[in-house]
Amino acid sequence: MARILAKSLNCLKADGPTAEPCCKCDACAGINTGEDIDVIEIDGASNNSVEDVRELRENAIYRPARSRFKIYIIDEVHMLSVSAFNALLKILEEPPSHVKFIFATTEPQKVLATIQSRCQRFDFRNISPAFISKQLKSVLDQEKIKFEEDLVLTLAKLANGSMRDALSLLDRLISTGVQPLTANLLEEYLGCPNSEKVCGLVAAIGDSNASDALAAAGELTSAGLTEVQIADALVDYMRDLMVVKAAGAKSELVILTEQQRKRAEQLAEKFDIAGLVYSITTLEKLRWSMKNSESARPLLEATILRLAMSEHFINVDSLLGQSNPPQDKKKVTTEHHTAPPAPPAPPGQGRLPLISEIESIKSHWQDIIKTLGPGTAGLLSSAEPVRLENNTLTLEFAASSAVQKQMCQSNGRLEQIKSALTQKLGVPITIELRLAAATANGPPAPDKTKMKSQRQNEIINDPAVKTVLMGLDATVTNIEDA
Ligand SMILES: [Zn+2]
Repeated sequence: MARILAKSLNCLKADGPTAEPCCKCDACAGINTGEDIDVIEIDGASNNSVEDVRELRENAIYRPARSRFKIYIIDEVHMLSVSAFNALLKILEEPPSHVKFIFATTEPQKVLATIQSRCQRFDFRNISPAFISKQLKSVLDQEKIKFEEDLVLTLAKLANGSMRDALSLLDRLISTGVQPLTANLLEEYLGCPNSEKVCGLVAAIGDSNASDALAAAGELTSAGLTEVQIADALVDYMRDLMVVKAAGAKSELVILTEQQRKRAEQLAEKFDIAGLVYSITTLEKLRWSMKNSESARPLLEATILRLAMSEHFINVDSLLGQSNPPQDKKKVTTEHHTAPPAPPAPPGQGRLPLISEIESIKSHWQDIIKTLGPGTAGLLSSAEPVRLENNTLTLEFAASSAVQKQMCQSNGRLEQIKSALTQKLGVPITIELRLAAATANGPPAPDKTKMKSQRQNEIINDPAVKTVLMGLDATVTNIEDA
């Protein structure tokens, strides 16, 4: 931009400054290559002393050799020392009429206010990925190079708002000679995370599938990515899911192709917003700890496991809010009369008698819950199938397992149980959860002979408590009788 402005000021084809420099005359050609005699480019980072500025001042008094103006382009101007700034200020206060300064910086706040007040300031914004990808496509079309849509958008995002970076990345890919250009090339030649693999990792985390999650992370590592790059890729993707979740899949805040958008929408189903916020902050902490650690890989793996196993990251508020929800109390009181296990099946519906189905479910219960992943299976271990009526299966939780019951109702877990059972039984199944009635005398009186520490151990080892501790990154410091 500075060179374009310099050409506009100095183009020899025009009688004065022009908005359309010819780009061909000697002045324009010299400026294009950075070798024009009257346009002096200075790198502020390496010429930042007061002597450098004094020298500049001494030369500035001489008239331009052939052009209208003598133009000084100082890049990274914020790097000048304070004394250099002050020396510069002298010439800025009373510049010779033939001298123009163009300052470029990425950190305008570091430029002295006294300097800034003598400048016209133009802020350049990042170019949107959509615009960059449009430009890349037109370059590729012009060069008759075949490419995948995915690749162009990913490149445009990688460029972080800089057209120059986007074009130079594209150049590197083209120079491989491979066609068509695909997103896989990014992984192979530029060391970018493969988006399919990142999606796979996120999906495994969402499914609480620890072994798949570790395998997916392992694949990314063996593709040559560093642990920090993997954490970054996860943060980026979970950020997209969070936005999709909060603002809908069509949101312009996520830059994805149609196909990627659909995929993100599906994956977002596996999480809730609180969970995604939790993952992003956890991964950010991980980045910091990896920087100061020799054991990046185990740290990454431990974090991935934690994300996969933390019951989709319990939202503290909803957990606290749900600990005694009124509608559930109602359910318990209205339902607990009706609970003789396995009531006789209504006769003749052309199907197996339901009594045998409930018995079959009971006998296969442990196998069924195993297919649900460790998180859900752990929660269901304190529940029993007790009744199957009109394709509604009632699962009864032990009276002390209200929290497990609550957690089964969140994060789409109920849907997951439902679809596993529907698959197992071949008919659509609805699930009803309820708490077993406490005994007539209320919960059994605590065994006074039991040691306090033993009771504490039981509580700490309770699967629901463990899950909460893991999800909140918390430890138990005290247990009190209610
Ligand atoms: Zn010209």
